[in-house]
Amino acid sequence: MSTGPAQYADAHRAEFLDLLCRLVTQPSVSAQGLGVPECAELLASMMRELGIKATVLPTSGFPVVFGSAPGPEDALTVLIYGHYDVQPPEPYDAWFSPPFEPTVRDGRLYGRGAADNKGQLLAHVLAVGSYLATGTPLPVNVKFLFEGEEESGSPNLEEFVAQNLGLLRCDLVVTSDGPMHDTGRPIVFFGVRGSLYVELIARGACRDLHSGHYGGIAPNPAFELCRLIATMKRPDGKVAVEGFYENVVAPTAYERELMSRIPLDEEALKEDLGVGRLASVGDLSHYERLMFEPTLNVCGLAAGYQGPGSKTIIPARASAKIDMRLVANQDPKDILDKVIRHVRRHSPDVEVVQRGWATAPSKTSPSLPLSIEVVEAVRRASPAEPVVYPSLGASMPDYIFTRVLGVPSIGVPLGNPDEHNHSPNENFRLEEFYRGIGTSLAIISRLGAAAS
Ligand SMILES: [Zn+2]
Repeated sequence: MSTGPAQYADAHRAEFLDLLCRLVTQPSVSAQGLGVPECAELLASMMRELGIKATVLPTSGFPVVFGSAPGPEDALTVLIYGHYDVQPPEPYDAWFSPPFEPTVRDGRLYGRGAADNKGQLLAHVLAVGSYLATGTPLPVNVKFLFEGEEESGSPNLEEFVAQNLGLLRCDLVVTSDGPMHDTGRPIVFFGVRGSLYVELIARGACRDLHSGHYGGIAPNPAFELCRLIATMKRPDGKVAVEGFYENVVAPTAYERELMSRIPLDEEALKEDLGVGRLASVGDLSHYERLMFEPTLNVCGLAAGYQGPGSKTIIPARASAKIDMRLVANQDPKDILDKVIRHVRRHSPDVEVVQRGWATAPSKTSPSLPLSIEVVEAVRRASPAEPVVYPSLGASMPDYIFTRVLGVPSIGVPLGNPDEHNHSPNENFRLEEFYRGIGTSLAIISRLGAAAS
């Protein structure tokens, strides 16, 4: 009997670990411009050694690595997205072994990028490599898109995707990044919230004023700002900006069912956060608030004197930093317009300034046949039942796939819950690395079977 890709992957664990070590040894810190193009070349050459067609393509920033391995002509195409750049490793002295000298200890590979994201993207590459090495025909077409700027906010990914729609054409995007559930169960997620960040600036007199000499006649921008902020939320927690909820899509019955199956220990959470109660919004459930509700949040407030003792002034300026998490199908530009209109109506002299970049939300239906196949593949490859998230509460530029490329996009994190991504002593449990290869094999084979 000939060897299948799964047996091949099992028999070549040591070699696969060596490949991951080679990749982690090459620094690729996008924030510091350290070793990034070199890492792209290394990754592309490793993919070629495995029989995958791979090229390094330029962007307006650091290059992407694009790869492909063909299946049958009429088979569907899955695009695996990942990133080969890493977070800065500082502080170096907090590492038990140097960040770019990958070291195995207690069944884990330690090194910057071991799990975020070199180990996770490599799991998919090695799954395809195992098909090719055994001469097993791939049942789907596989494309790879590995970015070199994810840890710096993917500033050029949207432009690259928009300019390469033909090259990247696919039926589905699968991304493996981040950790599994705290319980060790795998996660499959179907979207993320978007984000929008603004600063509100209220101005009073041209300088801080004596609160006795001018109290009662000079305007106070701190009060003006507080009054404005108070108009932005209703007592039940809903955002009071007109039209804010206009395009919000409610969860389907299936999504509600999925949310009801996500583990939740509110008492442990309250204890962890040190709060007596959690914020509520109407009568929405915990996960509906996190996944299907937009937010408007005060991140920071500043006005007047904050030093020791007292200083009797009327401040000249007050400002608030506000972030919003957006859900499907809200649009950041539209929401910014609505916030500006709200401010003009209630406090016409307050200035609204957008800060940072805005990202649109993204949403893929978990009831698509392809979605169900991916969850089933993860279930088969893991000893534990997957936790299915209709959305994450956090934000990532996933809309580039769902809106610009226009295809479903599914997240399948392969990292251990304690991978310490972005922290010192980042690590990838070897068991999760090998299981990740198995998960990728299962995804490829189930998508192939589903399409035939
Ligand atoms: Zn990261």
